[in-house]
Amino acid sequence: MSRKKDISILIIYTGGTIGMIHDPVTGALVPIDFKHITKHVPELSKLGYILQSMTFDPVQDSSNIDPDVWVRMAETIEKNYDKFDGFVVLHGTDTMAYSASALSYMLENLSKPVVFTGSQLPIGLLRTDGRENLITAIEIAAAKENGVALVPEVSIYFDSELTRGNRTTKFSAEHFDAFNSPNYPALAEVGLHIKYNVNHILYPPKKSKLKVHCKFDNNVAILKLFPGINRNLVQAIINTKGLKGLIIETFGSGNAPTYKWFIDDLKLFMSRGGIIYNVTQCHGGSVEMGLYETSREMLTAGVISGKDITSEASVTKLMHLLGVCSSTKEVLKYLSKPLAGEIS
Ligand code: ASP
Repeated sequence: MSRKKDISILIIYTGGTIGMIHDPVTGALVPIDFKHITKHVPELSKLGYILQSMTFDPVQDSSNIDPDVWVRMAETIEKNYDKFDGFVVLHGTDTMAYSASALSYMLENLSKPVVFTGSQLPIGLLRTDGRENLITAIEIAAAKENGVALVPEVSIYFDSELTRGNRTTKFSAEHFDAFNSPNYPALAEVGLHIKYNVNHILYPPKKSKLKVHCKFDNNVAILKLFPGINRNLVQAIINTKGLKGLIIETFGSGNAPTYKWFIDDLKLFMSRGGIIYNVTQCHGGSVEMGLYETSREMLTAGVISGKDITSEASVTKLMHLLGVCSSTKEVLKYLSKPLAGEIS
């Protein structure tokens, strides 16, 4: 059994509310110096683990996070992989589900926990949710059984629930309970005890080595359908210079209008080598192309079903596959398969 004092965790602060305090002079929210994190969260020293932290320069509001920052995150983990037992990534909540999804594809054969967390209220405030989120995220990143990490996945810990990163979505800008995982059970539930749902956790093949994929291609777009959608809008999107992949956020179980112009425009985009991924705009459930007339034509035209994938996991998956695959055929093949447990 590993002793607590032998377990080391790297805390990577990328930005976001969790790392903020009010500047005593100006009153504005400013990032804290993570070297002094125990001043703000004295409980950390009672955990008994070896904790080290590093702060991204500059720290970013998560609205500014992009593939270059995902590469920095993945490279930081890769560089420190042998030195630490687990990683806690502190990140703004707004785009946390995108970053966690991206990292889940980038870190192939991950055998150590990478736990994303953040908070709705800054860590320097009395009522902050950041303190509990940080402490429990560290506990989870350090959890082992027989020397093996209990959750060797990219996950998100927030308000008593640990969920798979690429299954999670932010649904509240107000409540502490800000995230949910509509189509996949929690990996752990936190109350008096931390209950791990080991049957739902992914474990890498034995003796596999971490492989880090850092290429992305952001020539992608998301088209959210709505009743009354205008052809000019659809054409403007599919004619975007360089566009390679289009996610259509469809109705219900993957349905779209059967207007002739709509299907013709999609076919035109695909005839030029474009890829179309059908993702439902519902918050739970799955695309089932062919179930209704309104999705049958897309199926026969070659649109790929995103099944029960989230919007965040779909756009990052498309960018990742366009970056790493050598042909359209390969991208199409992997889009319909789970890469890191993101679809059922
Ligand atoms: N705007 C902030 C961010 O996502 C909000 C947060 O941290 O929760 O970076």
